[in-house]
Amino acid sequence: MRAIQMVDLKTQYQKIKTEIDTAVIDVLESSAFINGKPVQQFAENLSEYLDVKHVIPCANGTDALQIAMMALGLQPGDEVITPSFTYIATTEVVALLRLKPVFVEVDAKTFCMGSESLRKAITPKTKAIVPVHLYGQAANMEAIMEIANEHNLAVIEDNAQAIGSDYIFKDGTKKKTGTIGTIGTTSFFPSKNLGGYGDGGAIFTNDDALAAQMKMVANHGQSKRYYHDVVGCNSRLDTVQAAILNIKLRELDNYIAARRKAADYYDAAFANNPKITTPYRAPYTNHVFHQYTLVLEGVNRDGLNEYLALKQIPSMIYYPVPGHKQKMFDSFNLPDVELATTDWLTERVISLPIHTELDEEQLSYITSSVLEYINQ
Ligand SMILES: *Cc1c(COP(=O)(O)O)cnc(C)c1O
Repeated sequence: MRAIQMVDLKTQYQKIKTEIDTAVIDVLESSAFINGKPVQQFAENLSEYLDVKHVIPCANGTDALQIAMMALGLQPGDEVITPSFTYIATTEVVALLRLKPVFVEVDAKTFCMGSESLRKAITPKTKAIVPVHLYGQAANMEAIMEIANEHNLAVIEDNAQAIGSDYIFKDGTKKKTGTIGTIGTTSFFPSKNLGGYGDGGAIFTNDDALAAQMKMVANHGQSKRYYHDVVGCNSRLDTVQAAILNIKLRELDNYIAARRKAADYYDAAFANNPKITTPYRAPYTNHVFHQYTLVLEGVNRDGLNEYLALKQIPSMIYYPVPGHKQKMFDSFNLPDVELATTDWLTERVISLPIHTELDEEQLSYITSSVLEYINQ
């Protein structure tokens, strides 16, 4: 059996090696390392794939969130509502810009921002909402957009974990996640569903004025060369990464199908076990399984993690400390929040290996090892 990894990037690379190597060498030969042709081509290819008007490539998914918030003109003290149960980048950027993070509860089934807790968190100072499509499943965007529109709030979808996922509205309309809110952001960190071979990110919008503003912010606030209208940053996608991503974007739907197949295998193996809740699949979207995350009841979760490690099976806790309990916010004097579902989930979630290269032998070994521990 091949060694089991959380993400097997090497086997995946070997399948597209010839194309990738050629594309990378082409960039080296061209020496156009910054803003070479593949960058613009990638922006066009991704905008076509997502069916969104503007794609602005940038250096990583954290920058993408920062640029989005800067371009919206948010001011220190403005409140930005985000889930606490997410990767830290989402809220870190809010704090970095001296905006006020307002943590809300997630839905226990989808792990994403709950619309009721969102509604309750809105104050006259609220300016933006950042739903996160966690683990590859969309938040309930239809409900969130309804609330946002009622209160005239900007919505930034953190789509770093769900690129390629479809969202289906009640009237049957389909949109890609990340193209529903005011702005969408993503990351091309190597382990993401569409990952480069280094850092990368992108921002999406259908709004022409915002797109122009975000391009300017990402490029030192420059409106034309050496004329800087606003304070910006320097955030670009490397040409080498764009060349790689152009090839990997063509594979994205196959990658999603492979992840969903592995998830189906896990679901079947763990079905009807009273101690295991397998990932809920919301009817309004297709889960793209960036992570395959179980909720355990009456199981020593950390014991399972150690048991699996002894059997050479990696597993991860995403994430061991929720945002509202991170030290980094101590100096912000945020009001105490009670997030019972977030705390409950934080104690009980465990993510199993999921990627595009898992075979049945590996899946069978993983699932039988998990069940051995749980049913002992
Ligand atoms: C990965 C990730 C980010 C940040 O992406 P980087 O490219 O690592 O900066 C932001 N939000 C979420 C939910 C992520 O998973």
